Amino acid sequence: MYRIGQGYDVHQLREGLPMWLCGLQISSPNGFVAHSDGDVAIHALCDALLGALALGDIGHLFPDTSDEFAGIDSKILLARVMKLVREQGWELGNADITIALQAPKIAPYIEGMRECLASVMDVDASIVSVKATTTEHLGFVGRGEGCEVWAVVLITK
Ligand code: MG
Repeated sequence: MYRIGQGYDVHQLREGLPMWLCGLQISSPNGFVAHSDGDVAIHALCDALLGALALGDIGHLFPDTSDEFAGIDSKILLARVMKLVREQGWELGNADITIALQAPKIAPYIEGMRECLASVMDVDASIVSVKATTTEHLGFVGRGEGCEVWAVVLITK
């Protein structure tokens, strides 16, 4: 049996905040405005996994009105979502993440991101893809106002 899920998230950028993406801290003068650590890529990945299970979204599961999740490391949220996936007898087939960000360049971080996500999900990094693009200075991403991430997963049992 197979199911697919897709997730999408956007976070606003602001100067002086930390930038976390796929579990790694990125060297950048600005970072993401968020209730959690703002790891927009992990949020999209969580939503893809939850979508495959038809379990709603991370805003529903981990409300941003709750103090429990204030500043939380998004890797903890991803680990909890993977636990739900496995509790229902599913295993990750593969995950594919696309990050749209104008700056900084995240190519040097890609391999580390794949390793980090794979380790949190307890899967092999060969089934975790992370890709990045700019938007050629177009739109809110291109103006450096935010970051947009799409994630697609296949789960199997
Ligand atoms: Mg988010």
